[in-house]
Amino acid sequence: MEGRCASLRLSFRPGAWRGYPKKMITIYQKKIAINALKDEAEARKIVEWLKREINDAWENRDSITPSFEAMPQPKLMEILKLLPKTNCRECKEPTCLVFATRVVEGAKGPESCPALTSENRKKLEDYLGGFDLNI
Ligand code: SF4
Repeated sequence: MEGRCASLRLSFRPGAWRGYPKKMITIYQKKIAINALKDEAEARKIVEWLKREINDAWENRDSITPSFEAMPQPKLMEILKLLPKTNCRECKEPTCLVFATRVVEGAKGPESCPALTSENRKKLEDYLGGFDLNI
């Protein structure tokens, strides 16, 4: 049976990883799971970044105070209420509810819903920005 040794949810700031949506990264004993990867090249870039972060954390372990608090997560209904709720499927998801779930997972962002009004796009970006880890 495979043991799960750590679970991380990492958010990427726009600009820090230009063009990359937010990712959920889970580290197991013998594998790393990353959601919504575009291709192998993206996977390799993220793994290289993750290696640097882990090595950096190890080298600075004496000055790091661990936190055992769970990260706050975006709320599904807060996202859904900003969406047009037309289920038009332009985002390649079957419904706005599924799209909202994908946003909570970090696999999609406001830019993936072309039907969003500019006002609600800004509200959604601001709301989701409150959950960034400032990586
Ligand atoms: S594109 Fe926007 S409005 Fe259309 S289904 Fe997706 S989330 Fe809903």
